[in-house]
Amino acid sequence: MSAALRDVPPERLSRDQAAAELGALAGELAAYDQAYYVKDAPVVSDADYDALARRNAAIEARFPDLVRADSPTKRIGAAPAEGFAKVVHSRPMLSLNNAFSDAELIEFVAQIRRFLKELSADPDRPLAMVAEPKIDGLSISLRYEGGRFVRGATRGDGSIGEDVTANLRTLADIPDGIAGAPAVTEIRGEVYMSKADFAALNARQHETGAKVFANPRNAAAGSLRQLDPAVTAARPLRFFAYAAGEVSEPLGDTHHGFLDRLKALGFPVNPLVRLCRDANEMLDFYHDLANRRAGLDYDIDGVVFKVDRLDWQQRLGFVSRAPRWAIAQKFEAERARTVLREIRIQVGRTGTLTPVAALEPVTVGGVVVSRATLHNEDEIARKDIREGDCVIVQRAGDVIPQVVAVVAEERPADADPYRFPDHCPECGSLAVRELGAAARRCTGGLICPAQSLERLKHFVSRGAFDIDGLGARHLAAFREDGLIAGPADIFRLHARQADIAERPGWGPRSAANLIASIEARRSVALDRFIYALGIRQVGEATARLLARHYGSLAAWRGAMATADSDAYRDLVNIDSVGPSVAGDLAAFFAEPHNLEVLDDLAREVTVEPFVVSETSASPLAGKTLVFTGSLQAMTRSEAKARAEALGAKVAGSVSRSTDYVVIGADAGGKAAKAQALGVAILNEEEWLALSAPQAG
Ligand code: NAD
Repeated sequence: MSAALRDVPPERLSRDQAAAELGALAGELAAYDQAYYVKDAPVVSDADYDALARRNAAIEARFPDLVRADSPTKRIGAAPAEGFAKVVHSRPMLSLNNAFSDAELIEFVAQIRRFLKELSADPDRPLAMVAEPKIDGLSISLRYEGGRFVRGATRGDGSIGEDVTANLRTLADIPDGIAGAPAVTEIRGEVYMSKADFAALNARQHETGAKVFANPRNAAAGSLRQLDPAVTAARPLRFFAYAAGEVSEPLGDTHHGFLDRLKALGFPVNPLVRLCRDANEMLDFYHDLANRRAGLDYDIDGVVFKVDRLDWQQRLGFVSRAPRWAIAQKFEAERARTVLREIRIQVGRTGTLTPVAALEPVTVGGVVVSRATLHNEDEIARKDIREGDCVIVQRAGDVIPQVVAVVAEERPADADPYRFPDHCPECGSLAVRELGAAARRCTGGLICPAQSLERLKHFVSRGAFDIDGLGARHLAAFREDGLIAGPADIFRLHARQADIAERPGWGPRSAANLIASIEARRSVALDRFIYALGIRQVGEATARLLARHYGSLAAWRGAMATADSDAYRDLVNIDSVGPSVAGDLAAFFAEPHNLEVLDDLAREVTVEPFVVSETSASPLAGKTLVFTGSLQAMTRSEAKARAEALGAKVAGSVSRSTDYVVIGADAGGKAAKAQALGVAILNEEEWLALSAPQAG
């Protein structure tokens, strides 16, 4: 199909062009049907499919004599797939006509009123309609004979479906027996999968390298249309009943009465179904449901309206492949196709690098979308999303639009796999990814413009430098006007006191007060200083542990800078500093920008060594201990906590700087090493005596 012809609107096509276009559309739509109905793996979005189907219908309407024998408007679904036994439906399983706007729905109601004489003669006579959510699953037919479930089939091409009886028996929602039903009862409805079950199934499929489904409908269809019922049994499928096929006795006079009967027989009926008295109520239902759509636990793609009186349904009958008494008013497509121009990396206030897709603007669900989230690095790799790709974008309710898939066939030849940056695009600092974390983070927190305001707020906060009078608002304004960029600049503000006094909302007094409270903090305790740096996972408690362990800024920096195996082992052995925290510390010190900030701060502030206060009377204060073997009286954790409470440091390995090695049962090599190095050894009793609460 030449693209040029496809761009000509139906009303401008010549007869020859129309014939050619109808041929092309028949072939193209048949191929899409095959992918969608037989393989359960659509290759185009529903919106694109519907647009082509509407184009086909419009051309056929203009040239009725050109309608082909294989016209898509005459077909339903696709023929049964190989491998399944075939079931001939006793009553055909049809499709539905669609309304794509309120006006089309109003016209549908008007048409029925014109068709039925008693309504056209009496405009005030009510025409009740049942409104039902249009469940996005696959329709099936269940046949009960003598109250027992005997056969279940898919719709197939409407006349012949696939026998999936054994598979349907595995669904808890489908009753095996129905008491009090007519001798022959065929019930039809939709098999579907909830959004949550779909997400979980796809996650499992992804893990095991199995097929990942495009959406819950395809997952439901793919799970039901299995040759092995055991596979279906393992999939969480559900069912809503909404129609009858062949029945040996009527199941009611009205559609809503029929639905009540279905419930009584034990079939699940959708709880949102409502009886509407006129077109206004129908439209209200439609718009209300459109708003609630995203919050439902299953996908719906519109509302189906059905004439309530079954005798009227009978009289209205069918046109081609759909009933005249029902219509599906579709929701705006929530998916669309467009080109991904560029992948941009945004740096959040806490340093997280988030990839965002810049798109050719496209209308999705009635809203123009030009950006979509790509979640994270792995997601891009998993979907192999590249700049220049043609992608499917999805919007669900208020959720940020997302790129769901790449249209692989349309990938430009020169599209390269995307390489996620390992440096922050805002400040150039290293961006690292911790083990098990989904996101990469910028390590230049103190200088990164994207993060600096958050970092400055943290720096002056109560547990850190605790600077009075320098709230978030002032920090933001000072930063904006270039008075401060990094934390050390706060301590140079005294030189700008006069400028500050001139600022709106400030005066000489308030400026002087601010400078005074800054000056009061020019000397700071080591633990506060460490905490103020805002290193990931280093909260107040960890900062205190580090301060206690290293004692002084110089010792801490020295240990972090060398980061050789001994220093590292020492670090991870500090109680509650595991490899993960150690990794964050290492990342912080690996970033040269951060070292510059530390140097800059060191020029401005005095960091006081950590002092062990109440515990200094203990003989263990300031000592370094190593525990080895198991103690009788207490766990290792309790022993460590007790030692630290008394001002001791607990290390994991023995070195010359170890003061005591406490030896429990089954002590290993550490005891030998202590002996070799001449380090004092304590047995459990000696340890208990030394660590016992001091009298007086
Ligand atoms: P349809 O989906 O427009 O409507 C008919 C179907 O609605 C019924 O068969 C039934 O299964 C379902 N339904 C759900 N809830 C219902 C309810 N409460 N009452 C009655 N029916 C209910 O028509 P269709 O022929 O099944 O499928 C055509 C649509 O499928 C297209 O408009 C397109 O969106 C999609 N499709 C997409 C592709 C693709 O490649 N993306 C290919 C083929 C079809």
